[in-house]
Amino acid sequence: MKKTVFLIMTTICLCISCNNKKSSTDSNLNTPAIADFNYKVDAFADMEILRYRVPEIEKLTAKQKELLYYLNEAALQGRDILYDQNGKYNLCIRRTLENIYTNFNGDKNSDDFKAFEIYLKRVWVSNGIHHHYGNYKFVPNFSQTFFIDEIKKLPETAFEKTGLKQDELISLIVPVIFDPSIAVTRLNQTPNVDPITTSASNYYENVNQKEVEIFYNNMKKPNDETPVSYGLNSKLVKEHGKIFEKTYKIGGLYSAAIEKTVYWLQKALAVAENEQQKSVIEKLVDYYKSGDLKKFDDYSIAWVADTLSHIDFINGFIETYGDPMGMKASWEANVNFKNIEATKRTEIISANAQWFEDNSPTDKQFKKETVNGIAAKVINVSILGGDSYPTTPIGINLPNSNWIRAVHGSKSVTIENITEAYDLASHGNGFAEEFVWSETELNLLNNYKFITDNLHTDLHECLGHGSGKLLQGVDPDALLSYGATIEEARADLFGLYFIADPKMVELGLLPNDDAYKAEYYSFFMNGLLTQQTRIEIGKNIEEAHMRNRQLIARYVFEKSAADKAIEFKVREGKTFVVINDYSKVRQHLGELLAEIQRIKSTGDFNAARNIVETYAVKLDPVLHKEIIERYAKLNIAPYKGFVNPVYTPVFDTDNNFIDLKIDYTENFVEQHLRYSRDYSDLPSIND
Ligand code: ZN
Repeated sequence: MKKTVFLIMTTICLCISCNNKKSSTDSNLNTPAIADFNYKVDAFADMEILRYRVPEIEKLTAKQKELLYYLNEAALQGRDILYDQNGKYNLCIRRTLENIYTNFNGDKNSDDFKAFEIYLKRVWVSNGIHHHYGNYKFVPNFSQTFFIDEIKKLPETAFEKTGLKQDELISLIVPVIFDPSIAVTRLNQTPNVDPITTSASNYYENVNQKEVEIFYNNMKKPNDETPVSYGLNSKLVKEHGKIFEKTYKIGGLYSAAIEKTVYWLQKALAVAENEQQKSVIEKLVDYYKSGDLKKFDDYSIAWVADTLSHIDFINGFIETYGDPMGMKASWEANVNFKNIEATKRTEIISANAQWFEDNSPTDKQFKKETVNGIAAKVINVSILGGDSYPTTPIGINLPNSNWIRAVHGSKSVTIENITEAYDLASHGNGFAEEFVWSETELNLLNNYKFITDNLHTDLHECLGHGSGKLLQGVDPDALLSYGATIEEARADLFGLYFIADPKMVELGLLPNDDAYKAEYYSFFMNGLLTQQTRIEIGKNIEEAHMRNRQLIARYVFEKSAADKAIEFKVREGKTFVVINDYSKVRQHLGELLAEIQRIKSTGDFNAARNIVETYAVKLDPVLHKEIIERYAKLNIAPYKGFVNPVYTPVFDTDNNFIDLKIDYTENFVEQHLRYSRDYSDLPSIND
């Protein structure tokens, strides 16, 4: 489970990382100071592309750098898998677009080419032709004639990787790109329609929702206390009347990319930091070779237990947000190492996990009697891959398997070099001045927003997702497509409830009793107003984290109608959020947390659907328009993506690894073209 960023901007930087001192004189590895760091890379459509620093990479030993390098390489190999999972024709389309882009010798200032370039960049951002957050298909602003003409100009060799002849390619992909009635959305969440047959994602073929449900219900064993994550690593298809899974594994679906991943994992194995980490990598390799979900659980259990390694990674089929049934996981990866100073914060939180569980406002029967090993740390990532690239969460809590979390605990991270990049990008862009009600709130945000944001992420990941339990016999998939929103709301609410607790000051996590108000104000401003900037006029909220934030904000807003704890105030025709009574807000948050936990623990599908559809999905069109117009004047891109640094290993004359160079200068286009050249082994159509 992951936490995406709040889109709130403040104008001051309080980053812990800003104070990091350079410690090495090695020019290749020295982390650039913030002031010297060129974090802006590109901007187009609704995106701004940023760079992130990798502080303290220079402090790693040569062996750790070698490990980091091999894991980085493993993290880049699955990029094509995600494209294919997001849509059957995505790889074919991406390769064609890239071919046109690199072979183009017409007028680069023409409207068609400029629109074409933006379209290609958007495909790179979203790992496919559907918006990474909104799920809808991009409208190409270049003409179909331009596109077909450019395909026809391509040399014969350009078609090799697509495996298609020129005219076959044209008749296959032109309608997918241009026809608004085809592949409309990647993930259809409209109630009462079959989400399987109407979603363009590629997790199912020739089957409908009923068939999928029957298939997996037959697979599930009654009263199984350690169920595998059914369907997690496969595509479900019907061929010649027979329904079966095509498993992602070596020798199965996506074999070519998985083989490369395994190659680099095996190199990493040889330089692992310790026996536990070795066992983690071995188990992951076993799972990639066999596709056996039991082995994936073995790997997850070993991974949770590995709390001592300095370097850590995620690599595999992990999150299920892209599957309309919430079962099948997209491929993602990152490589990271511990930010030792900032990790002291999360260690305090996890050491007190039982206290939080015992004192949460949820019903006793839904609480964990014993909270197991929540290992929480603050990390810096060295690479982002798959579904974490180029847009990434800022916090992650894994594994997702409910029984493993209950028995073995979970590992939770806050990614501080990414939150640092977000913070940098927010400097002085006028956002807070436009949307914050008064100087009082502005000062709160300036003083406490960075620390409370990071703390909320810590609480969300480290405690929120790890808290509570399902009642016996409740199917973990019972909430279907509403499950992700409910789960994110549960984690956010846990964080919001406790960030206002005096315990925070007592534990030294916040400086005083007012600091939490920065988080409350920014959360409600975002949930009630400013996150709407990311939604096009007339569209609903689709993404689980955004739904969760509006659910919480709208629910509490409505409950505040009587006590006026929160209200809207209008000044010069502009709507603002005003919080009159922070402690009453906390009380409402606690009530909602209790209800959300009840829904989760009992698998109450109807209540989940009701609360999500009532609060989380629809926007007030008048308010939405106002927010969009105010935001447009600020010229800020609502979404951020990243480029990775470029790593180059240094070997001595005997071919021993001796160092790792890091370079921060590659731009967005260069990076994607390089990735498509060097990390692209899958066929264009994967059957
Ligand atoms: Zn989460």
